[in-house]
Amino acid sequence: MNTLDIRTMMVMISILSLLFSGLLALAGLHAGNIRGMRQWALASLCISLSLGFSLIYTQPSASSGWVLAGGATLMATGMALQLIGIKVFKEERFNWQIWMPVIVLVIAQNLWFAVIHPDVGARIIANSLVFAVMNAACACALLVRIESPLRTAYWFTGAAFAVQTIVFLVRAGMAFSAPAGLYAHSPINPVMFFAASITMLCLTFGFVLMLNYRLAADLHKLASHDMLTGALNRRSLEREAERLQSISLRNGETVSVMMLDVDHFKLINDRYGHPVGDVVLQRLSAVIQNAIRACDYFARYGGEEFCLLLPSTTEEEAFILAERLRTAYEAMTLDIDDNLLHSTISIGIADSKQVSLELSKLVAAADQAMYRAKQAGRNRVVKYSALSG
Ligand code: GH3
Ligand code: MG
Ligand code: MG
Repeated sequence: MNTLDIRTMMVMISILSLLFSGLLALAGLHAGNIRGMRQWALASLCISLSLGFSLIYTQPSASSGWVLAGGATLMATGMALQLIGIKVFKEERFNWQIWMPVIVLVIAQNLWFAVIHPDVGARIIANSLVFAVMNAACACALLVRIESPLRTAYWFTGAAFAVQTIVFLVRAGMAFSAPAGLYAHSPINPVMFFAASITMLCLTFGFVLMLNYRLAADLHKLASHDMLTGALNRRSLEREAERLQSISLRNGETVSVMMLDVDHFKLINDRYGHPVGDVVLQRLSAVIQNAIRACDYFARYGGEEFCLLLPSTTEEEAFILAERLRTAYEAMTLDIDDNLLHSTISIGIADSKQVSLELSKLVAAADQAMYRAKQAGRNRVVKYSALSG
């Protein structure tokens, strides 16, 4: 490692960072409403410029302190931008009040130890510790509250930040025992720059991986969900039903299906307009989604018709849930131009004990029950088992 030339490595890392900055900016061009790429691109640019600053520095002189102070401040700015990018990407709040003193500390300590009272060891220790804290903050921001489809990408990028934290802590520790400047013949410098260049490469890959995973997750959601209500679409429900069918066949559990239809929905559309009709559908979906279990499947089956697929649920148990949904929806009012809109739903239920585990047959049976509910005056729940009687 001692034979590695620090200056050559610095030039390489600086150019690589510049390229990474362009790569992240290009990746951000087609990121849609996913944010954070711009901050990461700017962060890479700052880190590239920071290394460029360090290249200007050759030996201690009257102006070299300013060069070192400028380089360290740019490095800290780059790391702060990485953290902001992560927060923005995860749509979390970034607390400026906490980080303002850190930025002031970086500028003050560099002015003091590089310009006013030059001290190589103290400057390296102070900067390394601050950089370690900033990298640790990035690792924590990634590894806390992980969205499951992005787990691998977060772990990969978070691990790269954790390694960088360790590198800076080791550098602080080494500088404590034997202070050595950037270009001093010390074994820690080449090792540190080698590790830093690898982790920077990993960080850039990590950011692109996070964007890629998020785009894939968004696309999957678009393809499997109804955009107006957030419910599953019919195709996804059919896929989930096939999976559930084979599980229920094996464990002998009963599956129930519930068909829900808004009463006189055409009237609502005609009287208040289509956009109000859309809000009514969204409100109904919210009522249902708040009431069901995580293992239940909720789908928009057609225009204003919804379907619930309930694993391990008998018709009797589904009836209790249906009544709860019906009364909760009936109690809800929508305020439109000082008019209170009331609406009701009719529900039909069927279970696999009486019909079959096949979704199409269960839906047909629940549909029959639902139409009986309409005939009987609407705003009610009818079980398929009650139809023959
Ligand atoms: P019933 O009580 O018998 O169910 O009467 P209904 O008026 O609800 O009758 P029907 O089920 O036939 O009405 C369906 C209406 O739903 C017709 C269509 O214009 C409307 N619709 C379908 N999809 C949407 C949508 O996405 N938004 C809005 N606002 N209306 C929709
Ligand atoms: Mg209807
Ligand atoms: Mg209908």
